[in-house]
Amino acid sequence: MAWQAGRIPLVAGNWKMNTTVTEGVALTRQVLDQGLPGDIEVAILPPFTHLVPVRDVIAGGAVLLGAQDCFWEAAGAYTGEISPRTLAEICELVLVGHSERRRLLDESEEAVGRKLRAALAEGLRVIVAVGETLEEREAGDAETVVHAHLAAAFEGVDAGGAARCVVAYEPVWAIGTGRTASARDAQSMCAAIRGYMSSLAGADVAAGMRILYGGSMTADNAAELLAEADIDGGLIGGASLKPAQFAAIAAAASAARSTQGS
Ligand code: PEP
Repeated sequence: MAWQAGRIPLVAGNWKMNTTVTEGVALTRQVLDQGLPGDIEVAILPPFTHLVPVRDVIAGGAVLLGAQDCFWEAAGAYTGEISPRTLAEICELVLVGHSERRRLLDESEEAVGRKLRAALAEGLRVIVAVGETLEEREAGDAETVVHAHLAAAFEGVDAGGAARCVVAYEPVWAIGTGRTASARDAQSMCAAIRGYMSSLAGADVAAGMRILYGGSMTADNAAELLAEADIDGGLIGGASLKPAQFAAIAAAASAARSTQGS
């Protein structure tokens, strides 16, 4: 399935380190059985080991396939790492900068930038995750932190490269906690991200860039978040493992698109 340009809503399911290969293939079939809307983009990001079998299940359909991370070199002596060149043969997109990798694996700003550039060089589309911790928000530093994440991730990326990226705003305190950012706060940060991307990559790129919200998005809160002007979809963790929930979020993104007339 070809990736579409413009701010068509994108709902991407990050399965994280969940499901065996057999379970993941079954989950993919269940997601497809839900009947996903055709006027938005839906992506699934299973573990690396699942990419080929999941690709075979979704073949010929509209669902996009992505990986949850990649290495910053295309080949070489990097035991255990996964090359963006290898991924580009299997899937369309890759996620970089997820807070779980930043936090649990000490992934640096510089590493996220290198991964982003390597993924773009191999022709992949990239979802770049950014977001502040609770302490940073409470200290009034949320925007500064997010701007720093963006500046490091997009360093050395030209406008053409940035145009193949999606930014996912994921406040760390909302991931997997059941605590969602209010629609107002999420909108405010996504608008700030669009403004900052304008300074980094130009007004045209920023205006056409998809900015997602992620952090405990569910079928119950998706409509409110997705109705916001600068929120163009969701990066979904826990709810992406529940086919009916995931499909309901996709349906909410489709409804928001028709309401906004995009
Ligand atoms: C995520 O990890 O990207 C995420 C948004 O997780 P959850 O939906 O479970 O909060």
